[in-house]
Amino acid sequence: MNVPRLWCIPLIFAAFIAILSAQTVKTPDRQVAVTIDDLPAAMADRLPASEITAMTRKLLDTLRDQGVPVVGFVNEKKLYKPGEVDERIQALQMWLDHGFELGNHTFSHTSLNQAGLKAWEDDVIQGETVTRMLMAQHKMKLRYFRHPFLDTGRDLLTRREAEAFLVERGYRIAPITLDAWDWMFAGLYHDAKQRNDETFEQQVVKEYLAYHEKVFAYYEQLSLKIVGYEPKQILLLHASDLEADHIGELLDLLRRRGYRFITLEDALSDPAYSLPDTYVGEEGTGWIDHWAIMQGKIPHDAPVIPQWVMDRTKELHLSTGQVSAEPPQ
Ligand SMILES: [Zn+2]
Repeated sequence: MNVPRLWCIPLIFAAFIAILSAQTVKTPDRQVAVTIDDLPAAMADRLPASEITAMTRKLLDTLRDQGVPVVGFVNEKKLYKPGEVDERIQALQMWLDHGFELGNHTFSHTSLNQAGLKAWEDDVIQGETVTRMLMAQHKMKLRYFRHPFLDTGRDLLTRREAEAFLVERGYRIAPITLDAWDWMFAGLYHDAKQRNDETFEQQVVKEYLAYHEKVFAYYEQLSLKIVGYEPKQILLLHASDLEADHIGELLDLLRRRGYRFITLEDALSDPAYSLPDTYVGEEGTGWIDHWAIMQGKIPHDAPVIPQWVMDRTKELHLSTGQVSAEPPQ
């Protein structure tokens, strides 16, 4: 008779349990929209146009080849470097030619908190000129706005007036939920490359990936606590040679965590982005933090950037939103 021997039974049982538990720990279905700020390049003041072009091409080729939709947010002041204006505009054009979309990030990366409403509004308007023209050539409408430094206003009246102004001009605000300060790693990476310090360069890339993973895990958990589920996330990155060289590894990391890449428009359809939000403060921050603060649950255990990254950033006098070049005459 073909009866299983007794010793087989625990084995069959163990295999059954293994299959069951594999199903219960399967990777969740997550979604994220990728956005890239400070175009044409976060460090446009330190880069010649030829390097901006090469960096842009490499970054956009990867994103296009991997089918990742992206919106890039522009600071038009960075276009006006004497002798390089055409090539810098051409770098923006490449985003549209690759099938991506552009948004406004103000002309000169102006903080609403620092500049005040009127000066900030002027900077929003000044930041539309070239981008709107390029988009019109592609039959596209300029429709997204990203606050520089994520500064949405120090007081609620300013915040609401600024929002009404943006709506009036046809914008949808592009919030963010995932931000691991890639601009900081990008500054260190650029410097290491300039100095041909490959060991340090690799150390920076390793930490950039590790820190992003920590931040993703943290905001996935915080999402559950604050929103009750993981909303369609919006990731903030910056146009840099770090991203041009290594965004593929970051996208792999996101895929391993179960993320699919969606458009910003799709992400914004998530009801989470309509949650009550009266956050105001000196420091700009992500929208999950806004919602957490609304619920009186002040986030206090966010991952911390390693001290050596902070120290080196200070030594190099780097900051986000560096704006180059001369304004138009
Ligand atoms: Zn920015």
